[in-house]
Amino acid sequence: MRGAVLYAPGDIRVDDRDDPAIVEPTDAVIRMAATCVCGSDLWPYRGIEEVDGPSPMGHEYVGIVEEVGSDVRNVKPGQFVVGSFFASDNTCEICRAGYQTSCVQRQPGAATGAQAQYCRIPLADGTLVATPDVPPADLVPSLLAASDVLGTGWFGAVAAEVGPGKTVAVVGDGAVGLLGVLAAKQLGADRIIAMSRHESRQKLALEFGATDIVTERGDDGVAKIKDLTDGLGAHSVIEAVGTQESMMQAIRSTRPGGHVGYVGVSHDVELPGQELFFSHVHLHGGPAPVRRFLPDLIDLIWNRTIDPGKVFDLTLPLDQAAEGYKAMDERRAIKTLLQP
Ligand SMILES: [Zn+2]
Repeated sequence: MRGAVLYAPGDIRVDDRDDPAIVEPTDAVIRMAATCVCGSDLWPYRGIEEVDGPSPMGHEYVGIVEEVGSDVRNVKPGQFVVGSFFASDNTCEICRAGYQTSCVQRQPGAATGAQAQYCRIPLADGTLVATPDVPPADLVPSLLAASDVLGTGWFGAVAAEVGPGKTVAVVGDGAVGLLGVLAAKQLGADRIIAMSRHESRQKLALEFGATDIVTERGDDGVAKIKDLTDGLGAHSVIEAVGTQESMMQAIRSTRPGGHVGYVGVSHDVELPGQELFFSHVHLHGGPAPVRRFLPDLIDLIWNRTIDPGKVFDLTLPLDQAAEGYKAMDERRAIKTLLQP
């Protein structure tokens, strides 16, 4: 099969690789219908995270079950399935509490790399959710979005306690931030402030339900949020970047008693204890338990209530993965869909 491999920062190649096979009796092998490049793939691509030898890439996937191990009961060959970036048994106490990304059996969800034609998925019964039928082609991008960025934006909104009567601010205009806007709208927020300096992303944020756009960032961004909220700050803030600046911007944009949902993968963030103490802000976040939300998200997509697939503004054949990464790195694309 063909599959994307990162050799060194900036060096993505699509190679001939061994076809994945069932290793554990709880595994499935799926034939990828679509895959994509994640904002978090850019951390090693940019050399901010170390590249430890040639690494198969990708953790977002939808596809058709090709083969299952002897212990798999819930999914069958021929079904179209959506999974996520961590595999989980969905039966342990942590999973049952809705934190499948901290499952006691947690392991990478796309064991052999999802930017490929086939992939081995561990703990298939707990990890994969089948759609009602094989979807029409136009629903595939939205189902693929559910696999990570939609589920992550949704968790950001839930962790930030978004709901009716709330004013929500979203820090970050990548796919996760934009889908955090969509989630906030679905969860009934009154007012949704998207923080973005890029016209195409502002446009999509408005389409997804943003009511206000703030172009300033850092302390100026915080001041703008305060201006828009009678000096108080937002009730709920979704942090979807993961840097020191974005995390502080999120905390400082939140009113006392309010909630920050942080879902940007944290890189060298250090929180000042005294400021945190006096902020009276709730912090919750981490790797999104996408599996918790998948059945509901698949329903919303299947019924065409939401169209999160709009975040894919570049579609390329898998063999052009290198250009897909480059376009996202240079912020020419919000998110690249790769066709296997
Ligand atoms: Zn578990």
